[in-house]
Amino acid sequence: MSICVCGGAGYIGSHAVRCLFDHGLDIIVIDNLSKGHRLSVDPNIPFYQGDLRDRVFLDKVFSENKIEGVIHFAADSLVGESVLEPLKYYQNNVMGTLTLLEVMNQHKVKTIIFSSTAATYGEPVSTPILEEDPTIPTSPYGESKLAVEKLLKWCDHAYGIKYIALRYFNVAGAHPSGDIGEDHQPESHLIPLILNVALGKSPSLKIFGTDYPTKDGTCIRDYIHVMDLAEAHFLALNKVQETRQSKIYNLGNGQGYSVQEVIQTARKVTGHPIPTLSIERRPGDPAILLASSQKACDELGWKPQYFELSTIIQSAWAFHQKHPNGFSD
Ligand code: UDP
Repeated sequence: MSICVCGGAGYIGSHAVRCLFDHGLDIIVIDNLSKGHRLSVDPNIPFYQGDLRDRVFLDKVFSENKIEGVIHFAADSLVGESVLEPLKYYQNNVMGTLTLLEVMNQHKVKTIIFSSTAATYGEPVSTPILEEDPTIPTSPYGESKLAVEKLLKWCDHAYGIKYIALRYFNVAGAHPSGDIGEDHQPESHLIPLILNVALGKSPSLKIFGTDYPTKDGTCIRDYIHVMDLAEAHFLALNKVQETRQSKIYNLGNGQGYSVQEVIQTARKVTGHPIPTLSIERRPGDPAILLASSQKACDELGWKPQYFELSTIIQSAWAFHQKHPNGFSD
């Protein structure tokens, strides 16, 4: 029996595939390679290139393999882009998952781990954010993920498909080997952008807003190492298979760092001065996003290993130095 990882060639998916493989699971990967990289997945792992909205393709994959569960990462995930192109986000994130669930149901696959997001909460009502807090997304991206969480709830009710939705905060870092890491084209995330400055690929880092109501005026985020996140998927899969109960968990470190603190830590890690340029706020950025992951720690037995910001940045730096042009090196 195999676990089907959808979006397994993307940044988070490829690290989860490594983690599940190291835990000895049989895996197959589906990815349309719109953003993912074929080189990020071990060539010994069965790989199917195709889109989740392609029902004929999905049906073939589910017919050729004995699949016992799905881990679903395949999605578009940029808040700003989603505001400009909401149809793209509903089409890919919602329609893709809808088709996946239809095919799962048809093939009697009753377990799914779903990549959700802190963006389902919108502007937080209190800090740290708890799973029971109101979910009022402020972007089509957050809305699309919340729509899928609700769809999952009804699929559980109607068909007995059990799910765990994991609401990620700011994922960063890379596999300790430095072989796989974050490579988005174009890059929009803070830590890889800072490291691109350290590599000499861009002259300075633009800080989006220095007038937030925080200690140094820059946004505070909760950075979680991608391998800790990957491990949480393994634990969630075991949990839902064992308990047959659907759940939602936050995944963050519960510790906030400002943009300035991230830059300062990166300066220490890289030894580069990393010049900055302060510009206006980026629309849609809440001042503080900080998770309570107590529920995941208590119920899944999850224990982040790489919680130090410097360790997270060091691992990302190792990948960037080894692959200055990402997977095209
Ligand atoms: N940020 C920044 N400059 C950049 C990219 C990001 O100041 O070039 C800030 C952004 O405003 C946010 C934080 O860094 O406060 C993290 O942004 P990122 O895009 O990495 O993740 P997000 O919080 O949007 O999921």
